[in-house]
Amino acid sequence: MDCDNTSLLKAPLSCKDMVTGMTHSPSQNQSDEELIDIEDDDFDLLEDDIRIGERDEIPFIDFSDRAQYLAIKSMDFTLVVKVLGCRVGYNTLHNRIYNIWKPSHPIKLIDIENDYFLVKFSCKQDYLKVQSDGPWTIFGHYLTVEPWFIEFCPTQSHPSRIMVWVRLPGLPITCYKWSMIEAIGNRIGSVVKVDYQTDNGRRGRFAHMAVNINLRKPLVSKININGRTQIVEYEALSTVCFECGIYGHVKDICSTLVAPVTENNVHSETLHSSTSKQDVVTKSSPVPNEAFGPWMMVKNVNGVPKRNL
Ligand SMILES: [Zn+2]
Repeated sequence: MDCDNTSLLKAPLSCKDMVTGMTHSPSQNQSDEELIDIEDDDFDLLEDDIRIGERDEIPFIDFSDRAQYLAIKSMDFTLVVKVLGCRVGYNTLHNRIYNIWKPSHPIKLIDIENDYFLVKFSCKQDYLKVQSDGPWTIFGHYLTVEPWFIEFCPTQSHPSRIMVWVRLPGLPITCYKWSMIEAIGNRIGSVVKVDYQTDNGRRGRFAHMAVNINLRKPLVSKININGRTQIVEYEALSTVCFECGIYGHVKDICSTLVAPVTENNVHSETLHSSTSKQDVVTKSSPVPNEAFGPWMMVKNVNGVPKRNL
């Protein structure tokens, strides 16, 4: 999917503008803060930093520990980002992340491969805030955010762990305790934050919670809470297989479908062992018998995935 929309573009700051702004006009309240020059991305190699020769009849070049350390050190305050399930161009993404992150100091966006980008931050506070304030969405798709790490490989289709918004429709009011919601959420993934929406006229209504989940594993679609089956809904996840419950492909090409699909065998016992016998169907919150389905995806009034931006 191509979500690029150049009509939404505002003129982004040029690199020169950003460096000039950072060098000459730091904000008053950040004057004591140590800033990184995001444009100074090189260092001088010393004579001892390079060793060359021939190994197994091919030329080799080895860099010293010092050079390798400096190269890795230059990635401090760098995030790896990707818009999940959507291709966004450089200028659009650059403009969007400035709008939603509102960094206090310039950031530098670097296009790498497979729709991944690096974002280098001038200041540590911005770098940490972006990680703690998620989940972020762009055009209704998650913007995955993770610190750069040395084993990062851009050939993987998407990161293994992301922060997503999760809803629990029909959750009994007796469970509306932060401690209980957090405990329930930790059965889905790792809870980051809980949003009660107490400030917009929907007081007491548990809205959603941000949960770190592993995209390589089947999504948790139901939880049995004291004998009652609770549906789990996910916001803004575009492609989920309703056969195996894993993000990133659709049922038609699911590798778990080794036998011809019929009405009777479409849901295997091994995948659905936790779903059927204890399901409690109520009038207000019917629980589907299948383990996974479109009901896991939060829809807006038009029946399409809700888009937050
Ligand atoms: Zn599948």
